[in-house]
Amino acid sequence: MIVAFDLDDTLYRELDYVESGFRAVADHVAAAHPITSAAAYEILMNSLERHGRGRQFDDLLRAIGAFSVRQRDALVQVYRQHKPEIKLPTESSSTLRALAAEGYRLFLVTDGNHHVQNRKVEALGVRSFVEHAYLTGRYGRDATKPGTKIFELMLARTRAEAADLVYVGDNPRKDFIGVRSLGGSTIRVLSGALAEEIPAPGFEPDLTVDSISEVPHALESLRR
Ligand SMILES: [Mg+2]
Repeated sequence: MIVAFDLDDTLYRELDYVESGFRAVADHVAAAHPITSAAAYEILMNSLERHGRGRQFDDLLRAIGAFSVRQRDALVQVYRQHKPEIKLPTESSSTLRALAAEGYRLFLVTDGNHHVQNRKVEALGVRSFVEHAYLTGRYGRDATKPGTKIFELMLARTRAEAADLVYVGDNPRKDFIGVRSLGGSTIRVLSGALAEEIPAPGFEPDLTVDSISEVPHALESLRR
């Protein structure tokens, strides 16, 4: 059986990455402006809490009277290029290890800027647990979820049938509908920002679990 995992908010908390990036941006800003890194970080986190993601760098630069589109774009680059300080949670590493020991063939499939995703994969050490980490951004624009291109590549590579494929993810907007259309199965982990979201009709997973450590048991029930 082939089991592929999503990365962000499935194998680790994406907020850990966001906080790591904010620390890098805060350090960068503190080096060039009369504000401490801690104060800059606090502005970023307060903005995140109040407005959700998207305008944190604008808010920080405006707060110190240094806003320009160029400055903002520079901070976006600092954020994207920083070396993330994130760790694979023990429940993820032990689950992956247990599944590999049981003979499951493991993969990673993650969307997003592939340079950024690769830095996350490196920091988390995910490659030591999977046969291949598919960063969909490396495979062209039509390779992102909910498209099925990457999963078809995975099936060709492993010579497995779609019925033997399971994808584990957190995002009902794109993690389940594609794999299910291929004939594979899906498991939703209730974690991250979308944990409360009710899937639209057709976007449901086959099974839902509260934590990644329940995935081995869910896989057993899919096999029956
Ligand atoms: Mg995700």
